[in-house]
Amino acid sequence: MQEEDLEHPVKVLIVGNGAVGKSSMIQRYCKGIFTREYKKTIGVDFLEKKLSVKGEELRLMIWDTAGQEEFDSLTKAYYRDAEACVVAFSTIDRDSFEAVESWIKKVEDEVGRIPMVLIQNKVDLIEEAAMTKEEAEALADRIKLKFYRTSVQENYNVDQVFQYLSELYVDEL
Ligand code: GDP
Repeated sequence: MQEEDLEHPVKVLIVGNGAVGKSSMIQRYCKGIFTREYKKTIGVDFLEKKLSVKGEELRLMIWDTAGQEEFDSLTKAYYRDAEACVVAFSTIDRDSFEAVESWIKKVEDEVGRIPMVLIQNKVDLIEEAAMTKEEAEALADRIKLKFYRTSVQENYNVDQVFQYLSELYVDEL
């Protein structure tokens, strides 16, 4: 048997309003880079990252929305067979914070309940925050998701988000 056969391919989504940092996060996590250039096209539907969690070999395929965040414009193919999801909002974008629950509903309507994690990105810009710490924590409590503050720019907590999500996934295997 080839080693590949032991690997679990996992389709992971990152959802959230435009410009919260989804593409940047995928590039940071999968390629180790961060660019300022706005909305570059990754050029493929997803990037991959291999990791080993609790003795299981995972191959995360992390799908980008490719600028189609406008509600309902994401195709069924984007959601199909997704097995884990990062829900993201931005520290400096109140609308993105208020859209979190509708993104979760959208994912659950398409693929049912899957492991999820909530992130507040751009925490390097906390001085300009459009929501209080208490509001963000209250949201996480209400929707019962583990909550991370991240900065893709500073490479803060990015690995931790995917590590945690992968552990949730493996626990359900
Ligand atoms: P997407 O539309 O959600 O995929 O967002 P992008 O990844 O295209 O990011 C939108 C903008 O936010 C880009 O200019 C990024 O460089 C910037 N950005 C992403 N993450 C961070 C972060 O953690 N901190 C700051 N300050 N800017 C970020």
